[in-house]
Formats: sequence, structure tokens, C-alpha cells
Amino acid sequence: LEQIAARMDRMNMVGQMAVSVAHEIRNPLTTVRGYLQLLGMTREGLMYKERYDLLIEELDRTNEIISEYLMLAKDKVANLKRCSLNTIIQTLSPLIQANAAAANVYTKFDLGEISSLYLDEHEIRQLLLNLVRNAIEAMPAGGELTICTSSEGNQVTLAISDQGSGIPSHILDNLGMPFLTTKENGTGLGLPICYQIATRHQATIQVKTSDRGTTFFVYFNQPPAKENFALPQSFGVGRISR
Ligand code: ADP
Ligand code: MG
Repeated sequence: LEQIAARMDRMNMVGQMAVSVAHEIRNPLTTVRGYLQLLGMTREGLMYKERYDLLIEELDRTNEIISEYLMLAKDKVANLKRCSLNTIIQTLSPLIQANAAAANVYTKFDLGEISSLYLDEHEIRQLLLNLVRNAIEAMPAGGELTICTSSEGNQVTLAISDQGSGIPSHILDNLGMPFLTTKENGTGLGLPICYQIATRHQATIQVKTSDRGTTFFVYFNQPPAKENFALPQSFGVGRISR
């Protein structure tokens, strides 16, 4: 037992080290990015604009990967506030449309009348972007991406659909496990983060997939809103399913 405890301690230490290393790496990266941007704007820089753009893109990608690891490493509590899922989607829509358009993907929004939910806005944005990014990446030749919200009774449903070729069965069997990826530059952390965020929102994720496309459903099962309703401490512990 002592041995196990010691091992757990060491695991925790490694996790904490990873978090602090990630933070430490981020600061110099920010400096490098800033100076690169400045250099890219000089006369010589402009002559090599594509290379500078690529360097900055790669730095941003590095930063995103660090963010993904940090998000999973942190055992944080969601900062839940009453807000509108539709508004969060609408705020993100220019970014989503720009990303989609760059990949020849047409975006359709079908936002229904839904009640407000207890959400951590930052986390829901992350969940949306992770699912949307996967949907876009699933359609390398372009297609249609649909983002839909609807409600039935107390349940609010968010559905994100693509017309890609579906999730391979070896991935589907373990969906949500860290580091599962079929992409050359994938981290396999996007979905695990989504599942973690869903759990913290008492939401469940389900998937429908075929060779003609995939839909990710996020079901929010929150109690009906009441004035001054306070969330119990145990709120956010939900079952993960697919
Ligand atoms: P990553 O995108 O970095 O590979 P994710 O956790 O976001 O990691 O996704 C894991 C894997 O699940 C992907 O590599 C892909 O094989 C599969 N996947 C996820 N979403 C879709 C989708 N909409 N269509 C097809 N496959 C998907
Ligand atoms: Mg992904």
C-alpha cells in the first residue's frame, strides 16, 4: 500500500511538473511570437511573408497543444453561470465560418428555442471548437457542417454534424480516450477534453456515425431554471456515455 501511495505521489508530482513546465514554456513563446511578428513587418520580413506566417502558425499550434495538455492536467471546477448556449454559438460563428470556409465547408446554423443553462462559457467555447474542428477535418474535400440546438422537456441538445466518412471503428470503440488519433498532426486530446467538459456540465455525449457522416450530440440534463437557484456541490458529476 505504501508503495502505491508513493507511486501516486510521484504521478502527482510529474503532473504538477508538466503543468509548471507548460506555463514556463508559454512565456518565452509569447516573446518569440511578438518579435517574429515585428520582424515580419519589416521590409525584409515582408519579402519572406509566407515563411513568417508559417513560423507564427507553428508557434500558435505549439501553444494550442500546450493548452490542451494543461486543460486535461488541471482538475478544475467549472465556473457555471446561467447563460444562453445560442449566444455562445452566435459569438463564435464568425470564427467557425472562417475556419470552415477555408476548408471549403459550408456552415449551417439551426438554433432552436432553448432555455438558458448553467455553463462555463470558456469551456463550452472549447467544446464547440473541438467538435467543429473535428467535423471540418473530417471533410477534406469540403461539405456541410451543421450546428443545431433544440430542446425537449428539460433536456437541451447540441448537435454538430458533418458529411465526412465517419469514425473508424477502432477509434469508436475507445472514443474519448486520450492520445487516440488518426491524424498526422493530431494530439488525440480534443475529444477527451470534450468529455471532461461535458461531465462538468452534467451533460452526456453521444455519437452517430456512418460512412456518410458523423453527428456528435451533447445532451444537457440540467434541472429547470429557478430564480436564485443554487447548484449543489455535486453538480457537474455526470455520466459519460456515447
Ligand atoms: P485529434 O483531432 O487530435 O485527432 P480528437 O480527440 O479530437 O483528436 O479526435 C480523435 C479521433 O477521433 C480523430 O483522430 C478521428 O479519428 C476521430 N474523429 C473525431 N471526430 C470525428 C469526426 N467528426 N469524423 C470522423 N472522425 C472523427
Ligand atoms: Mg480534434
